[in-house]
Amino acid sequence: MHLSEMQKEVDGYIAQFQEGYFQPMTLVVRLAEELGELAREVNHHYGEKPKKPDEPEGDIALEMGDILFVVACLANRLGIDLEEAFAATMNKFRTRDRNRWTPRAGRDDLDEGGRANG
Ligand SMILES: [Mg+2]
Repeated sequence: MHLSEMQKEVDGYIAQFQEGYFQPMTLVVRLAEELGELAREVNHHYGEKPKKPDEPEGDIALEMGDILFVVACLANRLGIDLEEAFAATMNKFRTRDRNRWTPRAGRDDLDEGGRANG
């Protein structure tokens, strides 16, 4: 699924409800909530803080999906095209950070910028 399709699907979902999108500040707080939920699951699975016996088992992938949903809500609310935003981010990594990391040998399936060849 393309990011534009994700944004459209989220927009269609939100359009069903009179309340519409939350205000940007509220959406940022929602994003922080979801990030906290992801952090809790990662800490539970890989960290040092086990859950209490009566706490339900969570799902890292579902929490990442929740984060994507809220990011799409915020982008839609602000009129931001996530495909353009992501392309700008990758361009930044490919230019500004071009020599930051040690290249792997033998990756002829990728071009100089790390994109799949052919
Ligand atoms: Mg969640």
